[in-house]
Amino acid sequence: MTGNACVVGSGPNGLTAAIMLAKAGLRTTVYEAQPTVGGGARSAELTLPGFVHDVCSAVHPLAVSSPVFASLPLAEYGLQWIQPPLPLAHPLDDGSASVLAMSLEETCTRLGVDGSMYRRAIGPLVRRWHDLVPMVQQPLLRFPNNPWLLARFGALALWPAASSARLLFQTEAARALYAGIAAHSVLPLEALGSAAFGWLLAIAGHAVGWPIPRGGSQSIANALSSYFESLGGRVVTNHRIGSLDELGDATPVLCDVTPKQFAALAGDRLPPHPRRQMESYRYGPGVFKIDWALSAPIPWKATDCRRAGTVHVGGSLDEIAASERMAAGDKPSERPFMLVAQPSLFDATRAPAGKHTAWAYCHVPNGSSEDMTERMEAQVERFAPGFRACILARHTMAPADLERHNANLVGGDITGGAQDLIQLILRPSRRFYRTSIQGVYLCSSSTPPGGAVHGMCGFHAAREALRQTLPGSRRAL
Ligand SMILES: Cc1cc2nc3c(=O)[nH]c(=O)nc-3n(C[C@H](O)[C@H](O)[C@H](O)COP(=O)(O)OP(=O)(O)OC[C@H]3O[C@@H](n4cnc5c(N)ncnc54)[C@H](O)[C@@H]3O)c2cc1C
Repeated sequence: MTGNACVVGSGPNGLTAAIMLAKAGLRTTVYEAQPTVGGGARSAELTLPGFVHDVCSAVHPLAVSSPVFASLPLAEYGLQWIQPPLPLAHPLDDGSASVLAMSLEETCTRLGVDGSMYRRAIGPLVRRWHDLVPMVQQPLLRFPNNPWLLARFGALALWPAASSARLLFQTEAARALYAGIAAHSVLPLEALGSAAFGWLLAIAGHAVGWPIPRGGSQSIANALSSYFESLGGRVVTNHRIGSLDELGDATPVLCDVTPKQFAALAGDRLPPHPRRQMESYRYGPGVFKIDWALSAPIPWKATDCRRAGTVHVGGSLDEIAASERMAAGDKPSERPFMLVAQPSLFDATRAPAGKHTAWAYCHVPNGSSEDMTERMEAQVERFAPGFRACILARHTMAPADLERHNANLVGGDITGGAQDLIQLILRPSRRFYRTSIQGVYLCSSSTPPGGAVHGMCGFHAAREALRQTLPGSRRAL
């Protein structure tokens, strides 16, 4: 091994970057502020003994699609995927539910009159998912391998999600299903580009499902970290880096942090203009999260919801759009749109026999201190009468708690910065992974392709760092 490299932060992007550096022969150390590795991919007994909850990420269509994860032997290090019978269900007030099934045909049949439009919109992209993924999981300004395929996706993606839903679909059920998926953008559904997330995750649902990892998202982090250590890498936990100066002459240094934190780490080494750029980077809404320990599965009225890994709770397109607009403003909704996951229905390792866990969050204004517990439980009760009676214990995290758990969750923002059109293209600036300090790079979800567990920010950052540090190594990776 030659040279000392460092990675600050052990989120999925930090660990992926560290693996790439170690594979290139660099003696690599990862420093993690928290007692355990994984950043946004950690699990813990948050409520009662024997109940394992995903502290942040729970459902992973983009991890199973990730080209870099597919290239690593993560299954040998314990990572197993579970596909719930349905990726997604979306309950409605009449007691029925819209569903996204893995089968495109089944989904189209269930969508009724809207089925043929849905098939026409995404059918060809579902078939080409594995060609599309590398193009949307790299800086969007990079020339794509297949410009026609990307343009086909772009023609759907650039629009506001709310008007796409109204224009393309006739039924409230189809509109609500699509709006719930698009709300993963954490953007108002009237924002340009908010449609992209709806289509991307719907296509992924048909191509690879929305799976959960056996044992919780910690298994993803553990597999990455164990593989990294097998390559000779070193992980130091409980070690917060306060300044780049603490890292001595390590080169390259990859920072799995967001721009605001990077400005603090770099201190005087950052010249005024790049400092202003880092400091003016915009963060998006935060989230309020609840984990429940339950005595029984959530008693959804719509039976399809009992077969789904993820359930979107929030009713109609109009209600979801209103909730997301408020989250982008300064007051959270009284009837928040929620993402609910119910992993213990499909993974017996998550709870004692016969008992269950559920995971949920809603979007709230960045830094909001409002307690959403009552409103969120009322929303679940609306579609699952008797839910409250199943609660054995709950654990809540407001934006400030999330940021304490992981400094990257600035004001509770879970995507490493607002994912509007400008910040998706220039993320966090036109330098992408490079910073103005030689040998120092950003590798977090504040770089392309952005939020979610996929490791691709770390992969691209490490390639860039290796290209500059060890010319000739890039082709070998
Ligand atoms: C509530 C919630 C739900 C989510 N749900 C999903 C989901 O279902 N599916 C999905 O794909 N994604 C989900 N995400 C998003 C996903 O977790 C993130 O996009 C992903 O973890 C980003 O990875 P990262 O490596 O960029 O940063 P992070 O995972 O945030 O890791 C950064 C790490 O750096 C450490 N660190 C920061 N500063 C320092 C320092 N100065 N010194 C040392 N260490 C430091 C932090 O402690 C942390 O461990 C969710 C996130 C949250 C919060």
